Amino acid sequence: MTEYQTHEHDVLIIGAGGAGLRAAIEASAAGVSVGLVCKSLLGKAHTVMAEGGIAAALSNTDERDNWRVHFADTMRGGQYVNNWRMAQLHAQEAPDRVRELEAWGAVFDRTPDGRILQRNFGGHRYPRLAHVGDRTGLELIRTLQDHGIHKGIDVYMECTVVRLLKDGDRVAGALAFYRDHGRFVVFKAKAVVLATGGIGKAYKITSNSWEGTGDGHALAYDAGAELQDMEFIQFHPTGMIWPPSVRGILVTEGVRGEGGILLNNKGEQFMYNDIPPLYVNQTAKTPEEGWRYCQGDRDANRPAELLTRDHVARCIMREVRSGRGSPHGGVFLDISWIKTKLPNAPEHIKRKLPSMYHQFKELGDIDITKEPMEVGPTTHYVMGGVRVDSETQMSRVPGLFACGECAVGINGANRLGGNSLSDLLVFGKRAGEYAGQYARQQGPTQLDAGQVQDAVRWALAPFERDGSEGPFQIQQELQELMQNLVGIVRREDEMERALVGLAALRERASRATVTGNRDYNPGWHTALDLHNLLTVSEAVTRAALARKESRGGHFRDDYPDKDPRFGTFNHVVSKRPDDEMRLEQATIPEMPAELKQIIEEMK
Ligand SMILES: Cc1cc2nc3c(=O)[nH]c(=O)nc-3n(C[C@H](O)[C@H](O)[C@H](O)COP(=O)(O)OP(=O)(O)OC[C@H]3O[C@@H](n4cnc5c(N)ncnc54)[C@H](O)[C@@H]3O)c2cc1C
Repeated sequence: MTEYQTHEHDVLIIGAGGAGLRAAIEASAAGVSVGLVCKSLLGKAHTVMAEGGIAAALSNTDERDNWRVHFADTMRGGQYVNNWRMAQLHAQEAPDRVRELEAWGAVFDRTPDGRILQRNFGGHRYPRLAHVGDRTGLELIRTLQDHGIHKGIDVYMECTVVRLLKDGDRVAGALAFYRDHGRFVVFKAKAVVLATGGIGKAYKITSNSWEGTGDGHALAYDAGAELQDMEFIQFHPTGMIWPPSVRGILVTEGVRGEGGILLNNKGEQFMYNDIPPLYVNQTAKTPEEGWRYCQGDRDANRPAELLTRDHVARCIMREVRSGRGSPHGGVFLDISWIKTKLPNAPEHIKRKLPSMYHQFKELGDIDITKEPMEVGPTTHYVMGGVRVDSETQMSRVPGLFACGECAVGINGANRLGGNSLSDLLVFGKRAGEYAGQYARQQGPTQLDAGQVQDAVRWALAPFERDGSEGPFQIQQELQELMQNLVGIVRREDEMERALVGLAALRERASRATVTGNRDYNPGWHTALDLHNLLTVSEAVTRAALARKESRGGHFRDDYPDKDPRFGTFNHVVSKRPDDEMRLEQATIPEMPAELKQIIEEMK
């Protein structure tokens, strides 16, 4: 018998990014006891890395904006396979969540008359992103932590959850281990909220940190919940590509929002060569018009650089493949050119994009006020996630909730920039509120000690094996396989190969061996991550194979067009009793007439 500590809470929240923190605040406000677990230090989630801003129709910068326009933009960005009810709630509630953040102490950039300033971003019709320079996520996390610290939430840091525990059908807690000394801990809880973020580490080039290994997705799947829309991965068009050690690090869309232009090696502003019909009426006809838009000209259309991320990423790939790329296999992003328009351009750039200035200066020895950056696509965000009820965020497993990037909902086939931070706030709050309510209605949960010991045995298995292979090589091959065979441009034969490759990697992972003991042991941590990475990679591949069309973040070379038949359902995967992955279609419910009308009007 392996020993473990036990803690008991009404609500256990797994993940302390924006979604988890917001959920924890709301659950504790409901008067229940809350435990918050995170696998790194508190405050070190992806949320803190968010740069560009939070999308909310505050209509401070342009009074024509309102929730209806935000809703229509989000649905169009998602190519109409979004959960329309969640997109509606998100657009309606985001302004209140941002104002609430301000009331809790967030210091946003300001309009001249003292209101929250909003900036342009891809796919948003009006300037909509509330921001703090290019460090918005830091301010969001700081504010939520400062506010949450007074709520009596118990925080467990550097503690990784490896298994959800159940009492019959309902969730009853989780097994975790502390990363530093490797000791196990059992959390008993009446409700569990997953807020574990994304899956970027399934790919070789990514803006995500080591934490993005799809843990919440896999924990939910193993516990009987469904994952939806996993084929839709967002490849952000602009990541750093040079030097190799920084490849994938994000270059915020805020650069383009402030007037940055994309150029190929011939100096052409190539984004103007190919405007998709869906956006033709709202896209600048000339680069000059695009610049006027960035300067706040209300009659100008958005620059082509601010088309949706999937489109921009594909245009960049096209330039690179046609031999018009930059020396290191990307294209050029130039903000320095604005010196021809603004006398104080260098100061303006440093003030609006301080992190970008430092990032390039320190990591690439490039002064972005004087020279262009080299950029290329990077795996950034997963639109797919745990399937939840639109109002409450509860999955099909009673008591198991999910919010933030690990849940599916507002984004459909592609997320608009800025819509994640607002999603975290809107649905983090809802998840916390309903998890608190649910916990209050439940009697005590029973935890079967055998179930805990099974999970402990599973977690310790890599130490018991006598194979010759460690987990790192397997992880690296998995990332390369996903990058090369299920990446930005996909094809049937390549994805079939990926499935075969994933099965082989799973077999190797089941024999992966680690040495040493449980004291901070990265090999062991990676061996456990592999289970999650393999689960989400298989889900992405199966769903991508089944979607024989191109839509949003999912582009197929062999089916390059959108097929209306695929616009009527989502792909859902779940675990069958024999442990195989089941893929099904879930019909998208009919949209109410008033929402249809909004979309028609906005067209
Ligand atoms: C560089 C970058 C810039 C971005 N910029 C923007 C932007 O400007 N606007 C915008 O809207 N979006 C942006 N995004 C996207 C957005 O930041 C993320 O989608 C969002 O922050 C995810 O928040 P989350 O709370 O769901 O998860 P995260 O912030 O990723 O937090 C996940 C939490 O779960 C914990 N966790 C994970 N697994 C486990 C486990 N097994 N056990 C215990 N804890 C676990 C982690 O430790 C962490 O605390 C950006 C993303 C990146 C990477």
